[in-house]
Amino acid sequence: MPVEVLIPEDALRARIHELGAEVAREYAGKPLTIVAVLTGSLIVLADLIRSIDVPHRIGLVHASSYRGATTTGSTLVINEALAPDVADRDVLLLDDILDTGRTLAALVDHIAVRGARSVRTAVLLRKLGRQIVPLEPDYCGFTIPDAFVVGYGLDYDDDYRHLPYVGVLKEGMIGRPPRDP
Ligand code: 5GP
Ligand code: MG
Repeated sequence: MPVEVLIPEDALRARIHELGAEVAREYAGKPLTIVAVLTGSLIVLADLIRSIDVPHRIGLVHASSYRGATTTGSTLVINEALAPDVADRDVLLLDDILDTGRTLAALVDHIAVRGARSVRTAVLLRKLGRQIVPLEPDYCGFTIPDAFVVGYGLDYDDDYRHLPYVGVLKEGMIGRPPRDP
């Protein structure tokens, strides 16, 4: 495997279970909608909601801001087609990773102007030393070093999302076609 394990499967499971219990406690009796940012947060969404034992809805939003291994020099595009109705809902925005912070900051505004009762944020991963836009996530699974990570929903050129762990592409893999031997 050209990927080195950073966060193994059992650690992900345990931490996500903790986060789910916390969310359930804090949102009990509230009209919660979890809005997951496609495509990277699909896996964490599926696992997280099974640890949230209070009623809630889920919604999806598509935002993309990067190509391949780079997160710089592009503009954020939010696809309206899937936008859930968040009027009078307490929204928890869920993304796979907080890098510069641009995606989540833009989406918080995007949801707020659509009449949500409240908007908070959750990320599975937070990369150290990369943030440009000030935003403190309300829930964070793991803080990780500044490396390009894949797996558990996160991709490199649309591959590696299926890995059950979070890993770092080994030296020399970035820039190569993902299926190159
Ligand atoms: P931000 O807007 O915070 O800079 O970027 C967040 C988005 O960039 C994430 O939703 C994710 O799609 C992508 N991203 C940032 N860092 C990584 C990374 O290390 N690996 C992968 N696969 N995607 C990343
Ligand atoms: Mg993303």
